[in-house]
Amino acid sequence: LLEVRGVTKTFGSGRRRLTALDGVDVRIGRGQTLGLVGESGCGKSTLARVLLGLERPDAGTVRFDGTDPFALRGKDLLAWRRRVQMVFQDPFASLNARMSAAELIGEPWRTHRDVVPDAKAREKRVRELLSLVGLRESDAHRYPNEFSGGQRQRIGIARALALDPDLIVCDEPVSALDLSVQAQVLNVLSELRTRLGVTYVFISHLSVVRHISDRVTVMYLGKVIEQGDTEDVFERPQHPYTAALMSAAP
Ligand code: ATP
Ligand code: MG
Repeated sequence: LLEVRGVTKTFGSGRRRLTALDGVDVRIGRGQTLGLVGESGCGKSTLARVLLGLERPDAGTVRFDGTDPFALRGKDLLAWRRRVQMVFQDPFASLNARMSAAELIGEPWRTHRDVVPDAKAREKRVRELLSLVGLRESDAHRYPNEFSGGQRQRIGIARALALDPDLIVCDEPVSALDLSVQAQVLNVLSELRTRLGVTYVFISHLSVVRHISDRVTVMYLGKVIEQGDTEDVFERPQHPYTAALMSAAP
């Protein structure tokens, strides 16, 4: 589904020059969940933004089903944008407080008008999406501040699903939530994978990544230092940094 090769991204210049990604190679098959781990500042979110087409790499290639998203323009770009969605860390910051849950979930349809064509179908689809993420139909007309943190994140997830994407990038989707709520939201995300075959790139803590990912990529200072099947990486880390990361984790 997605192949990243030799991707390099540098920010700033002179003494402030910083290499956030340094020759990163990553592949994700359809229906897979790829976990991305590594200490703060190692380049996880930057890689996520490259995958989403939000950040153009200085060098290297990104291919989505063989297509280079950075070469797309106009209608083709719009069609591609539909295919990759994101779930953010802080659902409150990313949801407009003046919009109801139904409006928030349906907002992507304003840009992508053909996905769900008419008002009646949209209402029905909002109800389906609410139920998919474990919210009630009556929640459609409530506003973000009337929901709990976990419920808000469910709205963020429903919204990411509104365009039926091929890939969802989750950048620390549960880090802002209470521990007890984290498990609920993770269950929603893994159930979506089972039911809809969603492909994820999943940035999170080690324990979460271990629980949810098929494959793991370990990053250190902008480089991929290890990747493989989740259990192999956790049970038999090959790189000393990975081993140290694992033993430092709770
Ligand atoms: P965290 O776990 O803390 O979220 P991360 O692995 O997601 O960290 P990134 O956000 O990808 O790390 O940042 C990688 C490096 O690139 C950091 O050193 C950061 O300061 C730098 N960086 C990221 N975005 C920018 C930017 N827009 N301008 C300048 N530097 C940036
Ligand atoms: Mg980050």
